[in-house]
Amino acid sequence: MNPRLTIVGSLNMDLVIRSARIPRPGETIIGSDFQTIPGGKSANQAVAAARLGADVSMVGCLGSDTFADVLLKNLNVSGVDAAHVHKDKDAATGVALIVVDKKGKNSIIVASGANMFLTETEIEAAENVIAASNVLLLQLEVPLAVVIRAAQIARDYDVPVILNPAPARELPENLFKLVDVLVPNESETALLTGLESGNPAELGPAADILLDMGVGSVVITLGKQGTFLRVQDTGSQLFDAFKIKAVDTIDAGDAFVAGLVVRMGAGYSLAEAIHWGNAAGALAAMRFGAQTSMPNEEEVNQLISGVNPDIIIGREP
Ligand code: ADP
Repeated sequence: MNPRLTIVGSLNMDLVIRSARIPRPGETIIGSDFQTIPGGKSANQAVAAARLGADVSMVGCLGSDTFADVLLKNLNVSGVDAAHVHKDKDAATGVALIVVDKKGKNSIIVASGANMFLTETEIEAAENVIAASNVLLLQLEVPLAVVIRAAQIARDYDVPVILNPAPARELPENLFKLVDVLVPNESETALLTGLESGNPAELGPAADILLDMGVGSVVITLGKQGTFLRVQDTGSQLFDAFKIKAVDTIDAGDAFVAGLVVRMGAGYSLAEAIHWGNAAGALAAMRFGAQTSMPNEEEVNQLISGVNPDIIIGREP
């Protein structure tokens, strides 16, 4: 049986323009290659998890505009259950305006719009869906009260809560106590703990602060350096990243989180789930695009078992 996940969070339409450089304040420049691409951290992770073999339900809020229709259709096509994705008639669907320069650097501004209209009442309406899940996955692109309410419901039913604390912000202790696995990257770890660490070997003290705040385990993603795990009472472990030629790492974090929760939801150990997440993150980093470049289950299994040497050395599969 497939693992069942519920993801509560954001859906955005990404409006992307490529340009030789990023404009300065007050300046207008001509760019090229305008694209509208479904995005939002939670929707990206939902689509990635569905591709990796999970039955995914998404809880979120769209506006009542054409972007909403496109994003809903995209969830349906990707096999994500959108029965609890609401439409707010007074809100605009969330958008991200993205400029990418020729070196691949970007500048992004997000108007959260309808994402901030998601309410606790709508989370409570999804109680049965959360209760029937193997894992609840949360991020921070919707109101904090909603994130906390979803985590409380999951805890009531002993459903493990995974929080990817992005975008980084300070969090109340009552949320930390509801989180079974916290999955920050390095900069989110620094913001949450006040400790900067240039070296994976020094991450222990930062992870201990997070454990002291009440989370069950800490999984810190470190880009091409892999992933750091700290579990209460059992010490730390560093998992190497897969050696690949990275082309576009923008969605690697979302692919990693999706891989991790899918494997956790299927009953694997945290260590096994991290290994699988590392493979999903590496595959996403090898290809351009966000939702469109998410790997599927077969590709992850092939990379892990070494069946496809083309993937391992970083050539296009
Ligand atoms: P974020 O984009 O959220 O900062 P990271 O850059 O830490 O996330 O990447 C998440 C995971 O994706 C890493 O832990 C690793 O498993 C994988 N990953 C990212 N970049 C690379 C890379 N260059 N090579 C191999 N794996 C990578």
